[in-house]
Amino acid sequence: MWLNLAEIAFDVTTLGPGRRFGIWVQGCTLGCQDCLSPEWRPLRPNKLVSMEYLRELLLSQPHHDGVTFSGGEPMLQARALLALWQQLRETRPEWTLIVFSGFQRERLLTSALSEQQALLLAADAFVGGPYIARLNDNRGLRGSSNQEIWFAPHARFTAEQREAMQYGPRRVELRWHKQQLLWVGIPVAGWQLSAVPRGIQDE
Ligand code: SF4
Repeated sequence: MWLNLAEIAFDVTTLGPGRRFGIWVQGCTLGCQDCLSPEWRPLRPNKLVSMEYLRELLLSQPHHDGVTFSGGEPMLQARALLALWQQLRETRPEWTLIVFSGFQRERLLTSALSEQQALLLAADAFVGGPYIARLNDNRGLRGSSNQEIWFAPHARFTAEQREAMQYGPRRVELRWHKQQLLWVGIPVAGWQLSAVPRGIQDE
């Protein structure tokens, strides 16, 4: 089984509690006017990695606290992401999963493919809905106030962590990686994405 990735980052502290793996998939069919990652929307092969390779890579870094899936649109690769997560949990049951999606949770629950529903329900927290820049209220992990943060009944986040995810301040990490810039986190309102583009940009 293969995954088409946009990017992966280790030791991410801006996309959920603790140190997390950030895994961004390539490709999205949604059309948010204020898309945060336009270069990751095209449905084209980018970084094709096998699920087995990715699993071993992540398991070799046990100091992490969980995984955050984003994109692009994770639900377009739900089957492989779900299989990856299920295998990770067998070895690291203490890890938590956060999924960002442009789809609303209700839509996924009523009309999505079964693997999309399963990925949604496997997540400890799900952040869903299109990003609208004028509704960016600088609060928590929601990019804009129309989006929803949903916590699963099995979610193992503390009350303080949930509060921070919903209402806490924003932080963004900037990383240089192979002569490319990667920004990791949720942008503050008014941030000029054209000045610091989402994801990878040639120097
Ligand atoms: S869901 Fe994400 S990647 Fe897709 S168009 Fe919206 S902001 Fe862009």
